[in-house]
Amino acid sequence: MSGPIETTDVLVIGSGPGGAIPAYRLAAAGAKVVILERGPWLETREFTHDLRIDTYTRIIDYITGNGVSVVAGNCVGGSSVVYFAGALRAPTFVFDRRDTAGDRIWPKDVTRSALDPWYDLVEETLPVAQQTWDDVPYPGGVWAAACHNAGHTCNPVPVAVDLAECTNCNWMLNGCRFGAKRSMLLNYLPAAVAHGAEIRPLHEVQSISRALTTGYRYAVDYMTVDEGDYRVSDGGGRIEAKIVVVAAGAMATPVLLQRSSPFLGNLPSAVGRYFSPNGDRVSMALMDERKVHSVLGLERKPGVAYDAFPIGKPIGSMTYDFLDGARRAGERYGLQQIYFPTITNILPEATPGGDWFGPAKKHLTDRWRSWLTILAMCEDGNEGTFGSPPPTGAFIRADSAAAVTTLSYQPTNATLRAWASSDAAVKKIIEKDGVGEHLGWTATRNYLSAHPLSSCRIGDDAATSACEPSHQLRGHPGLYVTDGSSVPTSLCVNPSLTIAALAERASRSIVKQAGALGVRVNTGQTPPPGSGSLRRPR
Ligand SMILES: Cc1cc2nc3c(=O)[nH]c(=O)nc-3n(C[C@H](O)[C@H](O)[C@H](O)COP(=O)(O)OP(=O)(O)OC[C@H]3O[C@@H](n4cnc5c(N)ncnc54)[C@H](O)[C@@H]3O)c2cc1C
Repeated sequence: MSGPIETTDVLVIGSGPGGAIPAYRLAAAGAKVVILERGPWLETREFTHDLRIDTYTRIIDYITGNGVSVVAGNCVGGSSVVYFAGALRAPTFVFDRRDTAGDRIWPKDVTRSALDPWYDLVEETLPVAQQTWDDVPYPGGVWAAACHNAGHTCNPVPVAVDLAECTNCNWMLNGCRFGAKRSMLLNYLPAAVAHGAEIRPLHEVQSISRALTTGYRYAVDYMTVDEGDYRVSDGGGRIEAKIVVVAAGAMATPVLLQRSSPFLGNLPSAVGRYFSPNGDRVSMALMDERKVHSVLGLERKPGVAYDAFPIGKPIGSMTYDFLDGARRAGERYGLQQIYFPTITNILPEATPGGDWFGPAKKHLTDRWRSWLTILAMCEDGNEGTFGSPPPTGAFIRADSAAAVTTLSYQPTNATLRAWASSDAAVKKIIEKDGVGEHLGWTATRNYLSAHPLSSCRIGDDAATSACEPSHQLRGHPGLYVTDGSSVPTSLCVNPSLTIAALAERASRSIVKQAGALGVRVNTGQTPPPGSGSLRRPR
């Protein structure tokens, strides 16, 4: 590498919740912060309402592994830009989960009550709003009515959405062009930039090694990627930093660290192991419209486009009845109404065993206006393991938005039983009084998740956790992991609020450690980030 090497106090890899939060806290405390982000930088008005390839596929990756497929964001703001904004705290029992040896999985200091102040902070900052039944779309009402009919409670889900600004367009997957979804683009990232942080899009970090410049600890090598084809690199460089925060998401962070292992040495054995898809289990109900009317007392308003099915927010209602710590492990899950875009209409099975084609499938897709999709978030066994890293990046890109990972996921019998239990619970609710028919979502061999976690997790036990409870990578002072990969287990709810709360907690400890790591910062509390709008430099 020729010329002087660029330096910074803090280098943050990835700009989702796990990266944006430490970037803001450290910049606000006075550190010089650079954020390298693999994906492009889009502003609110640039998000499209279009399913054409090359529109939303620019900012989403569909990553196929052996046994699991994952959807994740690829842009400034990370998956918070494309997510459905369901914002829930994980229940108490999650933090108390034990492994098969009977040992606590989460660090003893990270309990629900210990995390509550950090949840408070994130909820105020995003901010999170509690939907009322008036905010919940029709499918959310159908799920709630079916739950009540089967003797269960069901509630509107809190969302990180400005409800007054939301147009209920149901295009959240494409990024919100109304600035209503409270992604990182509207809070932590603009606040970080206001405190001098610099965001560099289309910069994919490849490896971390030891710095050569005195006073700096790590050297981060990146490739710049072509905006039109992410498989093409048009340059690269190196930045040395005193502190590195790895927040490339649970599908990329372990791969980046594995590739860095020959340079860093002494990589904890838990890096790239214990991956969890958050126990995600999607299934579907085909509703009988006559029974929905006669039994549940609901009616679609005539004349509403698409019979009102795809209008609204993707996540409306959820029953918390099965999130009861007194229930047996494996029988605790959140059951949530969720909307999947029409592009996924091929996935539900028309006949037991799954069927891609044929009259039954055609008949099923004909009735898609009467579909109700349910997401169960269960307790899984952290069964995923990453193989050797590919030559560059986190996975092999076949095309924009289509990629293959080395991740292998083979659920244990305990996880399969948990899914069977959640399936049975959904079926009982849906099929009570014949209001609907419960169908699997198994037309692909792989399990599906939008909630990758745990591939570089925190914990007290060095054998089963890559990071200390402070989020520092074991044996590597100044190198922190603050994204979804640091979350120890599946959460039984959507994970982003917990990832953000943990990132706030970790940021506090990184700011406190910064002096010892050679970065001069103000260790007092930094102000709340407030609201802003992230503008790309021209
Ligand atoms: C379609 C969808 C819907 C979702 N809905 C919800 C929901 O309703 N509620 C909820 O709680 N959660 C939801 N999630 C999940 C939630 O968005 C994620 O859990 C959360 O954003 C993860 O935060 P993170 O910081 O770990 O990773 P991410 O937000 O994924 O950020 C990681 C960032 O790192 C970048 N990156 C990767 N590799 C590199 C590299 N080598 N160099 C530089 N940058 C890199 C990526 O491009 C990405 O921007 C959803 C996710 C998806 C995809």
